[in-house]
Amino acid sequence: MIKLSQIEKVYKSGANTVHAIKGIDLNVERGEIYGVIGKSGAGKSTLIRCINMLERPTSGNVIVDGQDLTAMSDSELREVRKQIGMIFQHFNLLSSRTVYDNVAFPLELSGKSKAEIEKEVVPLLELVGLSDKRNQYPAQLSGGQKQRVGIARALASKPKVLLCDEATSALDPQTTKSILELLKDINRKLQLTIVLITHEMQVIKEICDKVAVIENGIIIEQGSVLDIFTKPQSNTTREFISAIINHDLPVIFADTKFSPVALPDSTLVLRLSFIGHSAEEPVIAGMIRRFDVDTNIIYGNVDHIQNTPYGTLVIEVSGSQQGIENALNYLQSRNLGIEVIGYVARHNRAAG
Ligand code: ADP
Repeated sequence: MIKLSQIEKVYKSGANTVHAIKGIDLNVERGEIYGVIGKSGAGKSTLIRCINMLERPTSGNVIVDGQDLTAMSDSELREVRKQIGMIFQHFNLLSSRTVYDNVAFPLELSGKSKAEIEKEVVPLLELVGLSDKRNQYPAQLSGGQKQRVGIARALASKPKVLLCDEATSALDPQTTKSILELLKDINRKLQLTIVLITHEMQVIKEICDKVAVIENGIIIEQGSVLDIFTKPQSNTTREFISAIINHDLPVIFADTKFSPVALPDSTLVLRLSFIGHSAEEPVIAGMIRRFDVDTNIIYGNVDHIQNTPYGTLVIEVSGSQQGIENALNYLQSRNLGIEVIGYVARHNRAAG
């Protein structure tokens, strides 16, 4: 649905040059919710504004629904932009217009009659849950309600793509949740492709199918949200994830020095992560049954990434060196994530 190829964006003002986007490729399938996450200044806004050409890339191609936007004139672009709705962090509503008139605005611009406009605006207000607010002004609305108006207005021109520029960053967590639910609902009902940018991993976790992590104008990691959460490759991605999923070691290990190799009479500390159905498999029981080892569960947690269970366990395996090695091989052959934290002398732990 959206294909960005080798996008570069250089801002020049006087002697100042900022290379904001450095050769980005991105493919968004129809009906997908695609999140781009990055820290402030990473290039997120520039990138999302290149998708509807609010920002013309310095080089590269932007293809939306088979049309090359980079090859279009300004007037062609005005037409094609109707297929690409956008919502903003600060809503960008017209304060002198009512809720109804804000949503009607793009339809007025395209020359529709009052009756046609009414026929389209009423169901949109219904969809976003604002039918009873149609005659209110933006100043009379909460942040979440303002964003609902923004969403209804963006949908008025029946876009194929919705771009969300930090759409929930000005909202409290509860309101954020309800707006994300609305976006997901719209995505399903209208088969709308959504691209969102955010600096919050929680937003990615709640609604995105795919995610790209952007840093210094390049995408350092991209893939399905489940893959990125369970197998992050870069430190930046790990940082974003650890803000919402606890990856710290339990406090009893605070002063522990781990050895990467087995020591005489040591136990092995592992972090296991389980996705989906494997979370319910009795893997640890299987390990204890097969091998002459003992297990101590030190920490456990089950989270959900959308509707998929994602469990984390920190365990300590003790026994003979051979037993521990066999147990580790067994775990590694199962469908779960394993991080070997290290070996620790047993007498250290026995005191604890
Ligand atoms: P983000 O949305 O991730 O915070 P931006 O896309 O806004 O990042 O900015 C990326 C880089 O481009 C930053 O260094 C920023 O200062 C610079 N930049 C953004 N817009 C402009 C502009 N209009 N003129 C000059 N530099 C800009």
